[in-house]
Amino acid sequence: MSPAATPRTLVVGFDGATLEMCDRWRAYGRMPVLDGLMADGSWARMRSVFPFNSAVAWTTLVTGLSPGTHGIFDFVLPREGAYSLRVATGDDRRVPAVWTHASAGGARVGVVNIPMTFPSEPVNGFMISGMDAPGLGERAVHPPELLDRIRRIQPDYRIMSKAYIRAEHGEWDSAERELIGAMEARARLVAKLARPRDLDLLMVNLEATDGSHHFFWQHFDPTHPRHDRELARRYGDTIGRVYEATDRELGRLIDAYAPDTVFVVSDHGGGPSNDWVLYMNDWLAAEGFMAIQRRARASLAKRAYGTAMKHMSVPLKRRLRPLFGAWIERAKGIALYGDVDWSRSRAYGTVQSMVRLNEVGREPTGTVRPEDREAVLKELADRAAARRFPDGRPLFERVARASEVYEGTVPGGPDLVVEPELGTQVRGRNTSGREGFLLRVSEMGVWYPSGEHTPVGMAVAAGTGIERRGEVDEQGISQVAPSILAVMGVPAPTLSGEPFPFVSSGLVSTGRTVEAAAPAGSELSEAEEAEVLERLRGLGYVD
Ligand SMILES: [Zn+2]
Repeated sequence: MSPAATPRTLVVGFDGATLEMCDRWRAYGRMPVLDGLMADGSWARMRSVFPFNSAVAWTTLVTGLSPGTHGIFDFVLPREGAYSLRVATGDDRRVPAVWTHASAGGARVGVVNIPMTFPSEPVNGFMISGMDAPGLGERAVHPPELLDRIRRIQPDYRIMSKAYIRAEHGEWDSAERELIGAMEARARLVAKLARPRDLDLLMVNLEATDGSHHFFWQHFDPTHPRHDRELARRYGDTIGRVYEATDRELGRLIDAYAPDTVFVVSDHGGGPSNDWVLYMNDWLAAEGFMAIQRRARASLAKRAYGTAMKHMSVPLKRRLRPLFGAWIERAKGIALYGDVDWSRSRAYGTVQSMVRLNEVGREPTGTVRPEDREAVLKELADRAAARRFPDGRPLFERVARASEVYEGTVPGGPDLVVEPELGTQVRGRNTSGREGFLLRVSEMGVWYPSGEHTPVGMAVAAGTGIERRGEVDEQGISQVAPSILAVMGVPAPTLSGEPFPFVSSGLVSTGRTVEAAAPAGSELSEAEEAEVLERLRGLGYVD
């Protein structure tokens, strides 16, 4: 593929960003680079997948396929043949991403900080893994010799900012500095690596926007249950400052790489959390779908786990990591499912809004026979639909069979999706010591992120191959991959979405469909898993 024929394409992730938020800061002239792209190009609100978290949404964004085909249903996946969960990585993805198609077509690619790209892949170019990488090591970088160069030219590069640790401790200044600092180091490094202009496709997730929502929404939004006017005076504009800095780093990437075509995309949106936390497995127990036996060992372990998570300092956890890795794994398993009587349970939850049946033949002690499957799902869906918050509004916003939500049937996914009202925190199991499956965050004395994801993100595009149409109707996240490939003229198999309507060329199809392959199947070590879990806990994905 000759570089002259391929528009040099830049894809930048504004993780979790929304058009509404961008419009707010653009109105004050704080996002001049995005402004320029919008003036020359087209944009749309963009609907994400379920669940709308970075692992699942980014994987659909880069593959153009449903979780039912790519196999990343969440940050954690059920271990086949066991009642336990493991942290998912890029190795669990069953289909190729845009960079694989582009590499195969002879294009040179650079991929930086895209979630679920650990271990790094042998692309025709370079790759630095995203948030599923336990750290910046050899397996997180392709080619491996790039690692030394990164350490030399950008010693402050880190896979992910430590803003969550700062925010959890109320150290807001340093949380803000961390968010912006990690993003700047990332963009500076990429600007150095992209400078020779020897890439046809460069994809970078700048990321900080998502963290600004998670940690600073309470200061930004006067109606948030945890808003504090004193703190708001200093941090009410942090989200604005992060968007402003993100726009500046977008400009840095454009200056360094001089692309012909630019896409700015977000994997989902962001909004306020409400004051509620829902414990999925405790709810299933309350509805009679899961049987709990009050064994002393399990409830003690559950309480000990909750207490340790709450009180143990991060440096202490880190120092104890060699022991802690094994311990967290065992404690997590015991805390989540250790006191479950599986012979009397019909369903269980993972960590987000996903329910699996305890199915004969699939689960080790299955109780639901294939012929009863539909009836159990219906009973469960009816119970979910009837559940209310104390003030009478529905607890669940959406209840759906997996087959209505996903295309494809690869294993590891939920059987039923039960999505609570937006802004509700969802956790696997109540380890707080308080009774119940639905608790008020404000009464618990623990820290939870004040911003949560919403299902609609954004896409902006401008340059070669992009029509100047202004805003168009809402699009879907599975359209990003075919749009990139269409602009670049890279042949690809049939994907689930069409290119965006403002992309002037169609996708060159190879006429083949994508076959979901068996995942590579490597698992993280206990210590690596502990590192990733710690990070996910900070973002509110696990307890
Ligand atoms: Zn995200």
